[in-house]
Amino acid sequence: MHRRHKKSGGKHKNRNRGGHDTAAQRDDDEENRPQGEEEEAEEQGKGKGDADAPQQPQFQGLTGPVEVKNSEIMGRYLVASRDIAAGEWILRSLEPLVVGPCQGGRPALCLACHVQLGLPLRLGAHCPRCGLPLCSADCPGPYHAAECALLVAGGATPLAPDLLDVRPDLYNAIVPLRCLALRDADPEKWAAVNQMEAHNDVRRARPAIWQANEQLVVEPIRSAWRLASRFSADEVHTVCGVLEVNAFEVGPQGCSVRALYPAAYLMSHDCTPNTSHADDAERRLSVRATLAIPKGQPVTLSYAYTLQGTLRRRQHLREGKFFDCVCRRCSDKTELGTFCSALIVSFNLKMAGKGLTGFVTD
Ligand SMILES: [Zn+2]
Ligand SMILES: [Zn+2]
Ligand SMILES: [Zn+2]
Repeated sequence: MHRRHKKSGGKHKNRNRGGHDTAAQRDDDEENRPQGEEEEAEEQGKGKGDADAPQQPQFQGLTGPVEVKNSEIMGRYLVASRDIAAGEWILRSLEPLVVGPCQGGRPALCLACHVQLGLPLRLGAHCPRCGLPLCSADCPGPYHAAECALLVAGGATPLAPDLLDVRPDLYNAIVPLRCLALRDADPEKWAAVNQMEAHNDVRRARPAIWQANEQLVVEPIRSAWRLASRFSADEVHTVCGVLEVNAFEVGPQGCSVRALYPAAYLMSHDCTPNTSHADDAERRLSVRATLAIPKGQPVTLSYAYTLQGTLRRRQHLREGKFFDCVCRRCSDKTELGTFCSALIVSFNLKMAGKGLTGFVTD
């Protein structure tokens, strides 16, 4: 079982379009809503059963005490559908929609079973069909079949055995390719992926992100691997965005992977979240409450390392998740009394002849 941590490729969406979903903003949102105005649309197709209401999208994996709400500021997010006790399971054993190597390509993983491989890869085993690195040529792991079939169909294979030694960053293209394979192979999963935000407009305005994806994902898939006739540049960029915004980092330390899950991606961010989550050997994800969550309150997780201080968390959230967090913790320079990012300083008060220790918070 592993704690997901958020970094360059981690989860999630900025579900507001401009501001961010924070506890404070949510409260404001609730309080300021004019009386009689439509509350928040319930999206699950359950509850408020108005036969004439437009059909709401269905979300896979929502079997626990949660429901989806939608607001102008936050977009879609999960709330407790009843009072939830601390320690209670909220989402259980969610099957990943897609799973594969994290960005960067190191450590290098077997693309079929995700065990760590030794370097250089050219001296190890490779897939006899496409040439990508495996722990053994007949590794029975389930993960490689999707991209292997596409690579073989594209006709650019077998790839050179030292390709991922020279270009480890090409590992970045594997999970996007596995996502794209769902379009024809598993329309139900593809539909679930397409319910997730990609924020192409925001990401396109950030050349560092957009161009990196162009070089490390779009170009390899469409040009080097000859799949341009199957996948448009827009489609590839969109799955890149879906992954950047929504993927969880899971798996054992040292060979962690990134994965997309149904339902769990709907949890909004808070720097003091009310849930924790873990995954099993098959990378199934479960979420449980760490605090009591009253009915109607958002079910949250942190898209940033909670042990990092506010400066670094907010930087990560701004650059990687595209929002400025102004949650209760981010808004309090003592970080709710924890002084998590404060400097400890000592003063020598000569006059008093005593030492004094204190915190500097800004
Ligand atoms: Zn393997
Ligand atoms: Zn292969
Ligand atoms: Zn925050």
